[in-house]
Amino acid sequence: MKQYAIITDDNLAKIYKKELSELYPNSFLCVVRAGEKSKSLKTIEKLTSMLSKKNFSKSDTLVAFGGGVIGDITGLLASLYMRGVTFINIPTTLLAMCDASIGGKNGVDTEDGKNILGTIYQPHAVIIQPKYLKSLPLKEIKNGMAEAIKMAIIKDKKMFNFIEQNREKILKKEILTLKKIITRCGEIKSEIVENDEKDTGSRHILNYGHTIGHAIERASNYTIEHGKAVALGIGYENQIALNKKTIQKSEVDRIQKIFNDFALTEKVKKVSMKKLHAGILHDKKRKNDTIHLYLPTSIGSAQAYDISLKDIQTVLV
Ligand code: ADP
Ligand code: ZN
Repeated sequence: MKQYAIITDDNLAKIYKKELSELYPNSFLCVVRAGEKSKSLKTIEKLTSMLSKKNFSKSDTLVAFGGGVIGDITGLLASLYMRGVTFINIPTTLLAMCDASIGGKNGVDTEDGKNILGTIYQPHAVIIQPKYLKSLPLKEIKNGMAEAIKMAIIKDKKMFNFIEQNREKILKKEILTLKKIITRCGEIKSEIVENDEKDTGSRHILNYGHTIGHAIERASNYTIEHGKAVALGIGYENQIALNKKTIQKSEVDRIQKIFNDFALTEKVKKVSMKKLHAGILHDKKRKNDTIHLYLPTSIGSAQAYDISLKDIQTVLV
């Protein structure tokens, strides 16, 4: 009989252990500590020996039950264990439901940075059940909204309007409202990924806000969360867009307001500008003195531009 190994973190295990054992009768739980620190090769090794001890074989299935961290670890483990086993992803954060669980990217961090080691390996299925958001801390809902708003800015003005009009419902975690946003994000992300699975061109549009966002995370030593860093990154990248006159000021102001409404621009610990500038040089998409950046042309659409490091550094003051 097929075995399921459910990879989850300690917070989720506390809440959902019973439900999971009922859902997957022939299963065992592998619990890792919650948090980005678990995204390491050490965790992959520990999980590997847990699987071996249970005689987990090539015909068994891994289940990721958690946020982006769990999805990343499980995806990588699934692609490596016995040269590849089936995995199912059950995202439990808004960020993972809207973004991270789709596209097959996984990874762990090394001393040199985030997601330095990883593969692209597609899950057999992604099972999204918004009911799991009921136990998710509100702060994490706001972080997830940063990615949803990003998708709206680059691809869907209607979703942007919807989010603007439904702020209260979102923050109250109204399931139907969240479901609409998750569904639309899934459609947008799948369409982008299908056209460029290996991330060599058009998929870069998903990186909007992330070039500067990643540099902010790095400069803060990862004390600023991903969602917030992306919102701040979008703020800076929009300044570049304004300087390049790709978008009107009124549109940029609307974007800034929506991030304010979700408390994504609240004061964060000041990051060192020197570190931020250094972080930009680390960008995977840098080519000599330019970076290929997608900038918005209006709410709902974005275009690629080659932006010089100088133009990026000008807004980082
Ligand atoms: P992401 O990378 O998707 O933002 P993480 O995997 O870092 O998310 O998870 C963020 C935090 O939220 C972790 O502490 C995790 O244990 C917790 N968490 C994830 N999903 C839930 C949930 N449905 N209910 C309660 N806590 C959750
Ligand atoms: Zn992101």
